[in-house]
Amino acid sequence: MGLAFSASRPRSCLLPSSFCFPEMFADLHLHSTFSDGTYSPEEVVGHALRRGFSALALTDHDTVEGCARAAAVCRPAGIEFITGAELTAEQGGHEIHILGYFLDPAHSRLLTELAKFQAVRTNRIREMVDRLNALGIPLKAESVFALANCHSPGRPHVARALVQEGFCGELDEAFDRFLKRGRPAWVSKFKISAQEAIGLIHDAGGLAVMAHPGLNHTDEVIPDLVAAGMDGIECFHTKHSTSMSEHYLEIADQHRLLVTGGSDCHGTSKGRPLIGTIKLPYTHVEQMKTRVAERAAARGFLLAGDAGPPSTS
Ligand code: AMP
Ligand code: FE
Ligand code: FE
Ligand code: ZN
Repeated sequence: MGLAFSASRPRSCLLPSSFCFPEMFADLHLHSTFSDGTYSPEEVVGHALRRGFSALALTDHDTVEGCARAAAVCRPAGIEFITGAELTAEQGGHEIHILGYFLDPAHSRLLTELAKFQAVRTNRIREMVDRLNALGIPLKAESVFALANCHSPGRPHVARALVQEGFCGELDEAFDRFLKRGRPAWVSKFKISAQEAIGLIHDAGGLAVMAHPGLNHTDEVIPDLVAAGMDGIECFHTKHSTSMSEHYLEIADQHRLLVTGGSDCHGTSKGRPLIGTIKLPYTHVEQMKTRVAERAAARGFLLAGDAGPPSTS
């Protein structure tokens, strides 16, 4: 497949990828039942293992709760686990998703902020259900929460409840008729600014990466995100065409951004699971780890009151 091929030939690696890290690849964008995925963290890892992944990141929406369970099963399976989350943010009036990687899952401000985003999500579900009720659809918020069974509910859970209770034939119909932006049950979501999202991720020791830029059609915000300290860009994504991936690889080169990629697999909610569609060469994970280590070292020096890391010259 074209995209998988281009994802296995990173520009940033001068040697053929098989030379750098033979047969090693990662999926850095995966959802579980802790947000709107249908696989448990253990199931996500099981699928990654069967497809030969060496590393993966769980990137549930607004939560890191599934990460401890995923890490626990990755360890004996010999898969490297990266703690992640996908935050919803706003830049220049556009909704953008920012992925955080190598987050400290016990970081107190991160957990406080995530709890706030989750409360916003819960209230939003109630508002969407109120709108559906006003349209004559007697769905109960409690049914959506029971189905979601997580702290980070979203529109896919409302869509699944609508299908399960027979109000819609399929998920796409639920989105098209009610839940898409501008449809009658759509409720806008409070979003932090991209700058705040990047700052929060950095505070929690992580790297901030723009998710699926090709789906946003908002390239004009990229320089602002870079100025805000964004570390990387998700060049490889299931919904990116080969030319889109190439375009974002050029942008990554131009702004010296890390290159990431992932399937954005949500399990079986929309037919075949997407895990396996993107195989990011492990060399990119190495580059991310180097960046995280450099950042941690610089912070260590700052905390120690030092002027900065010693000069290498
Ligand atoms: P939310 O965060 O509540 O606004 O929901 C956004 C999520 O809905 C995305 O991450 C996707 O997982 C999902 N989504 C968006 N559009 C669709 C669609 N047409 N069918 C199924 N899922 C969708
Ligand atoms: Fe999602
Ligand atoms: Fe997203
Ligand atoms: Zn996602």
